[in-house]
Amino acid sequence: MSMAGELGPLQPRRCIEEMEEYIPISTPEALADKLGLRPDQILKLDGNENPYGCSPRVPRALAEFASYHRYPDPEQTETRAMLSQYVGVPAENLMLGVGSDELIDYLMRVYLEPGDEVIECPPTFGMYSFSTQVSGGLIVRVPRGEGFQIDLDGVERAVTPRTRMIFVDSPNNPSGLVTPRDQVERLLATGRLVVVDEAYAEFSSFTAVPMVLENPNLVVLRTFSKWAGLAGLRVGYGVFPQGVIRQLRKMKQPYNLNVAAQVAVRESLLDVDLLLGNVRKLVDERERLQQMLSTVHFLKVYPSEANFLLCDVLEGDAVELVGFLARRGIILRHFRKPRVSNSIRISIGLPEQNDAVVAALREWRMECRA
Ligand code: PMP
Repeated sequence: MSMAGELGPLQPRRCIEEMEEYIPISTPEALADKLGLRPDQILKLDGNENPYGCSPRVPRALAEFASYHRYPDPEQTETRAMLSQYVGVPAENLMLGVGSDELIDYLMRVYLEPGDEVIECPPTFGMYSFSTQVSGGLIVRVPRGEGFQIDLDGVERAVTPRTRMIFVDSPNNPSGLVTPRDQVERLLATGRLVVVDEAYAEFSSFTAVPMVLENPNLVVLRTFSKWAGLAGLRVGYGVFPQGVIRQLRKMKQPYNLNVAAQVAVRESLLDVDLLLGNVRKLVDERERLQQMLSTVHFLKVYPSEANFLLCDVLEGDAVELVGFLARRGIILRHFRKPRVSNSIRISIGLPEQNDAVVAALREWRMECRA
């Protein structure tokens, strides 16, 4: 017999029941189908993916790999040893996850009791609030300032006894702005666990990684999705202080990183020169595209240290603009949130793809004036 207020046997946790359903982005296949085009005619520039793809060593090694029937190494021993060389920190400070998304979720599950608070600085990456909510925590938002810089005074004021973590993406998604060392230090001075998410570090000029070894309350998250073109294989990692990684090791899914992902990491790390060469090309293209977009009169483009550019749409509606481009097979991301209330984000593509985006944007201007 169930009493009033008692959970029924099929009742989900309240924090899950109250969540809105996640709306996934549409695939190039779905858009191609709608437009009567082939998927390869779609220009997908909404996911900050790498247009050069992964290292050619990855598909070769995966085709030859002979142990798909074995479970992966739960300790990720070989992978962490190689990664340690690339990142420049000891292997015992590293853990890999199914994308950095999984590590965000792990951190929430290690540190949040129901009702505990997590500070984020919007506009920002959506998974911090998503995973906070899944874990029954409360997200506390301290908006970024005019130039997207972190409002450090605001963060300090927002800290309460229930604040467990502060999440900052650097470079920031969607603006591309980096959080410099002195600002990370001020966040660390709150004494809370500070998570600096460096998904786009390879495209930028600053990393907080060396600071992890000196600060027991700093975590840096990284990913292979962007610079190494492995978004589909889901590989992220974190640089963690010993006190944090000890807890994570206890609760990690033993076989989280599958064998294909471990092979792909190895082969990528054996091909760093080629991959970082592609990163340099994308950085050059970012600067060229920024220059071109600055001549489009209805856009205000922001400087970026990532593989995307954010633009405010100064005339007309960003949703209509994105719809106009979608009908031409170009997929961009738009935002309708505070501080990015009428904005678009363009992932950097190959040179000819970036030219195509600018040409289509100019066409929209013509159409609006007609
Ligand atoms: N952090 C930020 C800031 C991101 O923009 C993204 C991907 N869009 C991620 C993390 C997720 O990375 P992963 O693919 O490793 O889960």
